[in-house]
Amino acid sequence: GPAPEDPKETERWLDGHHRRFDLFINGEWRKPSSDEYFTTSNPANGDKIADIAQATAADINAAVAAARKALPAWQALSGHQRARYLYALARQVQKHSRHLAVLETIDNGKTIRESRDLDIPLVARHFYHHAGWAQLLESEFRGYKPCGVVGQIIPWNFPLLMFAWKVAPALAAGNTVVIKPAEYTPLTALAMAELAMEIDLPPGVLNIVNGDGRTGALITEHEGIDKIAFTGSTEVGRIIRKSTAASAKKLSLELGGKSPFIVFDDADLDSAVEGLVDGIWLNQGQVCCAGSRLLVQERVADVLHEKIRTRMKTLRIGSPLDKSVDIGAIVAPVQLERIRSLVDQGVAEGATCWQPSSALPAKGLYFPPTLLTDVQPTATVAQEEIFGPVLTSMTFRTPAEAVELSNNTAYGLAASIWSESINVALDVASQVKAGVVWVNSTNLFDASCGFGGYRESGYGREGGREGMYEYLEPAWLTEKPKSSST
Ligand code: NAD
Repeated sequence: GPAPEDPKETERWLDGHHRRFDLFINGEWRKPSSDEYFTTSNPANGDKIADIAQATAADINAAVAAARKALPAWQALSGHQRARYLYALARQVQKHSRHLAVLETIDNGKTIRESRDLDIPLVARHFYHHAGWAQLLESEFRGYKPCGVVGQIIPWNFPLLMFAWKVAPALAAGNTVVIKPAEYTPLTALAMAELAMEIDLPPGVLNIVNGDGRTGALITEHEGIDKIAFTGSTEVGRIIRKSTAASAKKLSLELGGKSPFIVFDDADLDSAVEGLVDGIWLNQGQVCCAGSRLLVQERVADVLHEKIRTRMKTLRIGSPLDKSVDIGAIVAPVQLERIRSLVDQGVAEGATCWQPSSALPAKGLYFPPTLLTDVQPTATVAQEEIFGPVLTSMTFRTPAEAVELSNNTAYGLAASIWSESINVALDVASQVKAGVVWVNSTNLFDASCGFGGYRESGYGREGGREGMYEYLEPAWLTEKPKSSST
């Protein structure tokens, strides 16, 4: 197979920073006021990668103050001038794509194939796309103003892509930003701080503060912030909804999902199996819109399960820097433990568990691809997001039953429908409660499509025109006529 990706350039970059990263506030590196650092490590081998500054209340105050101070000049730029910064960031991402992909892979555990071919190209695409919106601001969003200072909190599953999803539209619309990456995966955002300096982004426009949930709460509760955008768990989303309820903050939430992957008996089953590889085994299943609930029409259930098991045997699990590996490491011990205990619970509630017999790497955080059949619709594994490489399967008889099962969840993020009958597919698509529906496809993302969910999956959209509205406020301007002739 191909040689593993060489991490030397990235190791040199980390050494160049003495494996210690401070806060990025007002365009420069600042020590945390408490002098407290936490560790980020490589889930594939447990090795420590670097020490990361933990931001305190005083640091968040400083970041918000810097963002506030930068706001008037940033807003006063024309859309065209702001676009130049976004284009420059996009080009920097492309220029450093190999380094960013390796950094993402060692911090998160995702395979280099995915970070190289999916995450980083989509990051660049997102900045390019939003450079376009910045230029169109005056013509397409007449009567709108930026929100002001926005606080953004992101998860660890697509660290740099979620950074791009948050930062690009916010800056394009003329806001300034205080963003907190997830504590397991702070590194690629810090690499972006350096690229922001490289392109001379004005100080204070983008502030990057690290830390855990305590730091996140300092942001969501800060009185100097006008809008909060959060991606992460449904539980924390609920906390943020409550903690911002009494404030005047605008809020968008991108939360969990338990998305149905519906296979009708006339579907091209081999394509559906490849769809599942993407749907549930991409990024070890740590994807908010993962097709984690397989609903298969009874007549083809046995055949499909057999095809899935055959394909699962060919999935290679191992070192994420190995270019031929399909399944990498799980981000952190607590996530691995959560996956294990949910699968155990599934079995205790009556599910049949199947995993390929291939051995796992001796070191590191790995979980094998897993198929749970004989799952009851009320079972915990049918209802709760596992956020791991675990597919739960249930059967249905009629399209109406497929719709009923699909909507038997608190979530509403995505759905994937497989059928050769366009009438069946479109009819079911119209009845499934999901913000995004894919037909004979899955996990397709584009910067121009508003992505998001409803119900417990949150509200607000990211990408495209809908995503821009999340960072703008309608502001009608009416002038009194100078004289009245009537
Ligand atoms: P999480 O919600 O705990 O963390 C997400 C972000 O929120 C992190 O940056 C974290 O530091 C921050 N945070 C934690 N507590 C906070 C608080 N009280 N106030 C403000 N910010 C806070 O998610 P997690 O523990 O990293 O992942 C657990 C679950 O989240 C997963 O099992 C999955 O269900 C879900 N998840 C969803 C997505 C998505 O894209 N929708 C992404 C990642 C994780």
